[in-house]
Amino acid sequence: MAVEKGYAALALALLSTAVLSACSSKTKDIEEEGLVRIYEVEKFARDIYKYFHEKWGTYIMDTISHSEQAHMDIVQEMIDKYGFDNPIKYNGYGEFTNKDLKELYKELTVQGSKSEEDALEIGAMVEEIDIVDIKKYWEQTEAADINNAYSKLTTGSHGHLRIFVSALNEKGVQYRPHYLSVQEYNESVGTVITTTVTTTSTASSSADMRVYYCQTDMCGYVYDPAVGDPDGGIAPGTPFEDIPDDWRCPVCGATKASFANYPPEH
Ligand code: MN
Ligand code: MN
Repeated sequence: MAVEKGYAALALALLSTAVLSACSSKTKDIEEEGLVRIYEVEKFARDIYKYFHEKWGTYIMDTISHSEQAHMDIVQEMIDKYGFDNPIKYNGYGEFTNKDLKELYKELTVQGSKSEEDALEIGAMVEEIDIVDIKKYWEQTEAADINNAYSKLTTGSHGHLRIFVSALNEKGVQYRPHYLSVQEYNESVGTVITTTVTTTSTASSSADMRVYYCQTDMCGYVYDPAVGDPDGGIAPGTPFEDIPDDWRCPVCGATKASFANYPPEH
């Protein structure tokens, strides 16, 4: 197991910091604190994957890094909506306000520079931390829109965890969960997202209303024209070919070119 006790302990300290600060705050402040905190956690993931992509050229590090940017945007949207202040958004790549994140970034980039496997293992671990961290704030928020944002982020993290674990499997490394319960981990990694595939008879005959599958390993996202991707700005009824080229897979962040109209072979 490449994950060493040192930074695993540090990550744990980070989690307990989140618990403590979450418990000591008043209900109204918890929304602001949670959103800003989660924004930085998403940024942490984005920055570390970008670093590993530059280090190892790993394709999924690039796509997932883009997906984390989309998660940051989701959180920023909530921060703007509630008129909160987000001092984190002025931080550049690799810059962190939270001292524990700053320290952890330093340690994990060193550790993940040893081998691509180490980097992938750190990726899986970061996703576990994300899921646990988001859950803490999610449980304390009553605002439906913020709940919805946390739900999206968590779904994304489960997808990312699955992708990292799958990439490790391909390299003959078996990943074991550090923070999630075995049951929660198995539910996450063992499930492939299934979208209800519907066919529309109302579409004009010339439009390609076939579903398109993200081909990134283990991503599992299916684009259904009938459903579209409203969160990504794609209205229901939009054929795949009409999606703008800068659109990204909402689960793994892959580009449009990573999609095909047949299921990926896993
Ligand atoms: Mn994320
Ligand atoms: Mn993630």
